[in-house]
Amino acid sequence: MAVTRVGIGEDIHRLVEGRRFLLGGVQIDHPRGTDGHSDADVLIHALIDALLGAAGLCDIGSHFPDRDPKWKGAAGLGLLAHTVDLLNQQGFKPSQMDAIIHAQAPRLEPYRGAIRQSLASALGLAYSDVNVKFKTGEGMGSVGREEAVRATVVALVEKITP
Ligand code: MG
Repeated sequence: MAVTRVGIGEDIHRLVEGRRFLLGGVQIDHPRGTDGHSDADVLIHALIDALLGAAGLCDIGSHFPDRDPKWKGAAGLGLLAHTVDLLNQQGFKPSQMDAIIHAQAPRLEPYRGAIRQSLASALGLAYSDVNVKFKTGEGMGSVGREEAVRATVVALVEKITP
């Protein structure tokens, strides 16, 4: 019988000028981007925390500390590939995920397919096993004022049966 485990992840990054805006490894066309030590892909960071949580492997900070120069400018997709390896070493593989991206602007609907495809490829999953939803901040709080972008992810992993 397959053993399924669930994990949750959340992340927030500041939106600033002079930075790229990457979501799930997909470049978003916007005058501002997400600030951070790595490439600041808020969706991938939340996904990594969800995957690590499901496997009982602590959190993103314990595997990729932001004080470590090794991870400066690190690509989210690279960190995600490393995370999938960590899971595999513990006998787990991703099986499904769902996400909410909180952003007031730009409109993200046109990127939905590319984001799902990008994450499905990275996780070795079918397109239908990767879902993403978009919410504005309704003009309120740091998301609503376009100061920040936040992501929440739930992921399932399965124990690999030999
Ligand atoms: Mg982050």
